[in-house]
Amino acid sequence: MSLARILLVYTGGTIGSMEDPDTGELRPFEFEHLRARIPEIDALEVALEYEPMAPIDSSDMSIERWGELARLLFHRRDRYDGFVVLHGTDTMAYTASALSFMLPNFGKPIVLTGSQLPIGVVRTDGKENLLTSIEIAGKWDSADPERGPLIREVVIYFGDELIRGNRSHKQDAEGFQALLSPNFPALAEVGVHVRFRRDLLLRPRGDARLLEDLNPGVTVVHLIPGMTPEALSHQLTIPGLRAAVLRTYGSGNAPRDPLFLGILTAAQDRGVFLVNVTQCAVGSVDANRYVTGAGLTRIGVEPSLDITLEAAVTKLMVLAGLHADRESLRMAFKRDIAGEQTPAEMIR
Ligand code: ASP
Repeated sequence: MSLARILLVYTGGTIGSMEDPDTGELRPFEFEHLRARIPEIDALEVALEYEPMAPIDSSDMSIERWGELARLLFHRRDRYDGFVVLHGTDTMAYTASALSFMLPNFGKPIVLTGSQLPIGVVRTDGKENLLTSIEIAGKWDSADPERGPLIREVVIYFGDELIRGNRSHKQDAEGFQALLSPNFPALAEVGVHVRFRRDLLLRPRGDARLLEDLNPGVTVVHLIPGMTPEALSHQLTIPGLRAAVLRTYGSGNAPRDPLFLGILTAAQDRGVFLVNVTQCAVGSVDANRYVTGAGLTRIGVEPSLDITLEAAVTKLMVLAGLHADRESLRMAFKRDIAGEQTPAEMIR
C-alpha cells in the first residue's frame, strides 16, 4: 500500500517560537528547529514534505497572507493527499474559516494545528498536536473504493479535539484545549483510538476552486448598553463598507430605540449588508424569540443562527469579493458553503 503524501506548511506561531535571550519575548523561529525537536516525525507512515512560509505571529495575519496560503494549497492540491498547516492559535479560527470559504470543494484534508507552549519546552503540547495532525491528514477512507482521504475539509486538531475549522473559536489563552467548536460536535473522539464521526464529515459537492479576492470592507459592531448613536453611525459609515456583523445580546437581541434602528436602516440603504451574530459563545440567534430580536429581522438584518463570529466575518469577506450588491450578497451568505451553519430546521 502506498504511503499518503503529506505537505506540512509552517506559517509561524508559538509552536515554532523560541525565547529571545535578551528580552524573553517569544519570536518565530525557522522550521528546521521544529523538525530537530521531533524526531518521531520520521517514524510516521507517511511521505512527508515541508514547505515553510515566512514565519509570523498569527496576530499579524492578513488578507494577503490568507491569499498566499490558499494559493499555495490550491496549487499543490494534486501533488499531495493531505496538508497540515502549523499556525499560531490566536487567529487560527479565522484562518481555518477563511480557508474553508476560499477553497470550496478542496476535497482533501487541510489540518491546522499549533501549540500553547513552544516545541522546545519540555511540557510542550506541540508534539502531540503535530504528530496526531499528520496521522489524521494521512488517513485513508476505508469505505471509499478509490481510497481517497477520509477528511476532505478544513479542520483543526488541537488538545485532543478534532473540529471543523469554520466552527472553531479560541476560548482559552492558556489552557491546552485552546480551541473549541461551541455549536457543532467534534469530528472524532480522540483517545487511545481516533474514532471519526463519519456521519459528520463533509464531502465535496463540485470541483475544487480558489477564491482569493477577499473584500476587506467588513466590520464588527459589538453592542454595549449605553452605546451612543455617534459611535454606531461612525462604524457604519466607514468608506468602502460592504457588510457589518452586529454582535447582539443573547438569542439575537438589540435595543428597540428608533434612533438605533434608524441608523441601521440608513446603513442598509447605502448598500451595507447587516448580519446578526450573538455575543454568546454558545447557542444560536433566534430572531423571533423576543421583540428586541424580531425588530432587527423586520428591518432586514440577517439572523445568522449559530455561525461563529470568525466564520461570519471571513464568509462575508470572501462573498463581498464576488457579489457587488447587498441582496446578492445576502442570497449567497444564506447558502451553506462548508458546513459553517446548522440549517434552521435542525436548530428548532
Ligand atoms: N501569539 C501566538 C500566535 O498566535 C500564540 C500561539 O501560537 O498560540 O501566533
